[in-house]
Amino acid sequence: MVNNPANIFQPGNNWWHKALDILLPPRCVLCGLPSGSVGICGPCKLDLPWAGPQCCQCGLPLPAAQDQVCGQCIRNPPPYCRTVSPLQYCFPADQLVRAFKFHRQLAEGRVLSHLLCEYVIIKGFTQPDALIPVPLHYTRMIKRGFNQAFELGSYISRVLGIPQHSAGLRRRRNTKAQSGLSRQQRRSNLRGAFYWRGHQKPGRHVALIDDVMTTGATVSECARVLKKAGAQRVDVWVPTRAVPARLYRS
Ligand SMILES: [Zn+2]
Ligand SMILES: [Zn+2]
Repeated sequence: MVNNPANIFQPGNNWWHKALDILLPPRCVLCGLPSGSVGICGPCKLDLPWAGPQCCQCGLPLPAAQDQVCGQCIRNPPPYCRTVSPLQYCFPADQLVRAFKFHRQLAEGRVLSHLLCEYVIIKGFTQPDALIPVPLHYTRMIKRGFNQAFELGSYISRVLGIPQHSAGLRRRRNTKAQSGLSRQQRRSNLRGAFYWRGHQKPGRHVALIDDVMTTGATVSECARVLKKAGAQRVDVWVPTRAVPARLYRS
């Protein structure tokens, strides 16, 4: 069953949501204690695996200050300009992503979107003209019932007032699962998997939305397609970034 994209996240702006918040206060998605409208309490939020200094292009950790580019991105620049990812994909942020993606726990999705919006505002990142969710192939969409990237994008769109364009970027074929493949295999697995179908250009500056960035192969392929379709700058906005074990900070 494909979910009606008319937004399953509803921030509590209406009087009945506010009344409901008083009668049934929102609980923290991690500890279950009352949390305020955001869905995560202060101590649990502090304990999240926040990204430290990171490469401004690929989002991987760097030993020094921000706004630097890592050696890998200098040697082999990716087709996207900047990665915005507030959290490392490890406990308990990975649990939030999995609960949202595989068990459709919408409160977790809302928390992830909220943390991303907050991060964009606090860091003062340049905001794009449009948000573009990484598409799912329709067979996976039917199986999962929703596209997690679209749902994250819907919330971010409402909070930051940036339009989301979800119809133009399409997935041509259902690719094999990426996990367990090498970087090169991931890239060839994805080659030709996406295309642009919009009558209009994607926008001058767009941000791709997804739940997690792993090697970056998927967003790189999407960014190539968007640039070919006319985008001049593509950023990647993901609440979580997987970090290879060798780069984990304690
Ligand atoms: Zn908590
Ligand atoms: Zn980098």
